[in-house]
Amino acid sequence: MPKFCKKPVVIEASQWYKNGDHPADYAADVEGFENDEPRTWSSEEAKAKGWEGQVVRYYRKPGDSGERHCEQCSNKMRAHGWIDTLEGGHVVCPGDWIITGVAGERYPCKPDIFEATYNAAADGEQEVHSHYNPPAFPHVFTDSFGDAMLFPGMSLRDWFAGQLAAAEVASAGANEFAAEALSDAAAQAGQTIEERIAFNAYRVADAMLALSYEAIKDRQS
Ligand SMILES: [Zn+2]
Repeated sequence: MPKFCKKPVVIEASQWYKNGDHPADYAADVEGFENDEPRTWSSEEAKAKGWEGQVVRYYRKPGDSGERHCEQCSNKMRAHGWIDTLEGGHVVCPGDWIITGVAGERYPCKPDIFEATYNAAADGEQEVHSHYNPPAFPHVFTDSFGDAMLFPGMSLRDWFAGQLAAAEVASAGANEFAAEALSDAAAQAGQTIEERIAFNAYRVADAMLALSYEAIKDRQS
């Protein structure tokens, strides 16, 4: 039987050291006023002026001094950034990676964790929609700043497939016609019954993820 391994999820990431470092920091034009007249600054102008980045913003927290040294990186807090995340937001230390996930969500990652988790993707590994597989039960952890941080845990694909496999096993156990249909389908495909159950479970899970990805894209457009 041919063998396959699961493709890696492809994410985009860049390392942040100072204001303006994120590639999307000046993606949008800036609307404002000059001498009481409305005007628009192009993204190029905003970048040339070194204005606050649009993705990684300045770290500012009422009551927290910019002169305080960070417990994690020991830089002064004024050298830090802030990014909005699915869980509200997170401080960005100089040197942190900013990851853009498959659904466009962004979050910071410490360099040692990033290096242990990711390899550079080869050209062509861009088909993110076919790998859309968000975490099923992200675990939110509160760090020393009191900020929420995300740990992904089990993937939604595996969770869907587990539910579907359990349902198919239960159905085959309870109903002799379902058991026979499963056994016939497995024999026809040259699979064991267990392989057939897993195949069905992941096929349905992938269809569910594809629909879920389309729904997210529609919401964002
Ligand atoms: Zn820091």
